[in-house]
Amino acid sequence: MLGEAAVAEKPPRVEKKAHAPKRYPCPRCGTPGRRLFKRTRRVRHLGHRREVWWEVTVGVYKARCDCGPKHFTSTVRGVQVGAEYTNAVREKVVDLLVRDHLSNYKVIEHLEEDFLFRVSIGFIYDALEWAGKKGFVRRVPRLVPGAPKRGAVHR
Ligand SMILES: [Zn+2]
Repeated sequence: MLGEAAVAEKPPRVEKKAHAPKRYPCPRCGTPGRRLFKRTRRVRHLGHRREVWWEVTVGVYKARCDCGPKHFTSTVRGVQVGAEYTNAVREKVVDLLVRDHLSNYKVIEHLEEDFLFRVSIGFIYDALEWAGKKGFVRRVPRLVPGAPKRGAVHR
């Protein structure tokens, strides 16, 4: 079927992205922390019928403030802390749901056919919640668990 023939026509591509300066501001208060070490991981990105990865290198920093955890990490543009997929993938998911009105399962199918990876339902909810926070989507659908802080659900 569609999948088999389309897979692996092109070799996977890996793009390197790094942002790990020696000092980096605490994400809460801005006090610079000093880098302890660097960490590299792969994050899936969109590529038409092609496996595309970002090899992301970030720094892990020791906080010199008391406002939060003792350590924090830097981020590269376009990837959230600890994310498995780039923001471009999240935006794609949101577009398919909100603009194209696809169902969750159609979104999963579409991504699999066009970009050769399979996201979870949980990721779809995350993407919507993320988009809601960024204001891409005015009203995050109520089905998103934990998302609507404003219109709190009464039990
Ligand atoms: Zn701080």
